Amino acid sequence: MDPIENQLRILKSLGFGVLTDVDLKEDEQPAVSAPSGAEPRSAAEPSLDVAPLPLAERVEALAQIASEVAECQGCRLCNSRTNTVPGEGNPEAGIMFVGEGPGAEEDKRGRPFVGRAGELLTKIIEAMQFRREEVFIANVVKCRPPGNRTPEPDEMETCLPYLKRQIEIIRPKVLVTLGKTALVGLLPEHNRIGITKIRGRWLEFEGIPLMPTFHPAYLLRSPAQKRPVWEDMQQVMAVFGKSAKQ
Ligand code: SF4
Repeated sequence: MDPIENQLRILKSLGFGVLTDVDLKEDEQPAVSAPSGAEPRSAAEPSLDVAPLPLAERVEALAQIASEVAECQGCRLCNSRTNTVPGEGNPEAGIMFVGEGPGAEEDKRGRPFVGRAGELLTKIIEAMQFRREEVFIANVVKCRPPGNRTPEPDEMETCLPYLKRQIEIIRPKVLVTLGKTALVGLLPEHNRIGITKIRGRWLEFEGIPLMPTFHPAYLLRSPAQKRPVWEDMQQVMAVFGKSAKQ
């Protein structure tokens, strides 16, 4: 199958109804650039100052975090949870997606992004030429806020060390934050700028390139915003030497 035709098929499966073959002409593609100040890939290594853990130790360390989360009563969200949702995926993932917090389905199953928004995230990951099992998916808070409300700042602050430890263990080449809350959870200094303005711009979390984009749940409500998310994800793909036309 022609590569562009194949890409169109993938985009259609994602529900990119606004796209046509005209949309995908080369001269209309969004600019794809590496993280600012970095070479396209090799220079974007995390600047953590400890040696990376071997796989077996990563698995063990992530399981340790999950077991601590399962017992955690660090904030009020422990009172209403059914299950904790520590996160899941490849301990050696190149990309780590970070959302806000578990929803109803995630709370029920103890897994991140398994509801409708999660299905869309999985499609996005696959359109990026990755499998869901190849990446790591986590949230800023590991317990469901009642009624899916936004986590309070003190809840995020209390829970953040778990996510930071996961990031330190996995050392992804790129972090992708999904929605404003996830971005502010990791980079609180951006709390005054709207996600619409800041998405698509490379930021950095502890030396790791970070791409902020919209949350998949927002895309379900506003399908027209899938296009900018796809532009953001093409920037992430470029870091891994992938392009939409492969
Ligand atoms: S949200 Fe985080 S800090 Fe709060 S109880 Fe759950 S695991 Fe603990």
